[in-house]
Amino acid sequence: MIEVIDLHRHFGGFRAVDGASLKIATGSITGLIGPNGAGKTTLFNVIAGRLKPTSGTVRMDGEDITGLPPHELFHKGLLRTFQIAHEFGSMSCLENLMMVPAGQMGETLWNAWFSRKAVKAEEERIREKAHDVLKFLTIDHLADQKASQISGGQKKLLELGRTMMVDAKIVFLDEVGAGVNRTLLNTIGDAIVRLNEERGYTFCVIEHDMDFIARLCNPVICMAEGKVLAEGTVDEVKNDERVIEAYLGTGLKNKVKEEHAHG
Ligand code: ADP
Ligand code: MG
Repeated sequence: MIEVIDLHRHFGGFRAVDGASLKIATGSITGLIGPNGAGKTTLFNVIAGRLKPTSGTVRMDGEDITGLPPHELFHKGLLRTFQIAHEFGSMSCLENLMMVPAGQMGETLWNAWFSRKAVKAEEERIREKAHDVLKFLTIDHLADQKASQISGGQKKLLELGRTMMVDAKIVFLDEVGAGVNRTLLNTIGDAIVRLNEERGYTFCVIEHDMDFIARLCNPVICMAEGKVLAEGTVDEVKNDERVIEAYLGTGLKNKVKEEHAHG
């Protein structure tokens, strides 16, 4: 579904993504791992249109989508979850979901302005869909709670829920497990598997929690220093010499840095 070819993204002289090439197969839950600073988030941001690449190509189903802005990718079904913006914290979880399609159909709504009945029917349809999404994610009981008042893990589920309000094909998740307790992490994992199996979503998931990666992802791609180091099953990648070296390498570098900092 996605093909990344010799992608570069430099910041000044620094090569955050330095010639990365990879493929994400339709229907897969592909894991992306690698030590801190490997360029994973930068790669996601380039694919999802938030950053322009320095050079290289991104294709979706064979079509060149390099450098397209996020809203155009959104219409093609390529979504990257993002944190619920601060200003939406005072809105309920249900309203946060209802906003997603609403924001995408301004023109349709404008046309429908002359028919209040049509608007009302559309709003009802979206409300029902939002309730379905919350049920699917097992957080229906949070429908009327303010988004700012739910836990970190519940927010991650709500972010995932936003992708279900539109017809997503591929969803990019960056560190869904960060700061989330084990139970909710399992719920998030279940939701991902069900979206994959029942609704045909393709996923690409960055995550540090290797149990989470092992449970969900095949294949797993490991990046280091802006490049793809290895790809395979979790076990193949975990046992790959280059991967072990990359993790040890940054581990050592960080240790040296720390010792330096502490004198
Ligand atoms: P990862 O997600 O794998 O931890 P990132 O993609 O966040 O890695 O970062 C890769 C490298 O690029 C890091 O060294 C980071 O400091 C650098 N980097 C990321 N974004 C910027 C930026 N906007 N300006 C300068 N350097 C950046
Ligand atoms: Mg990152």
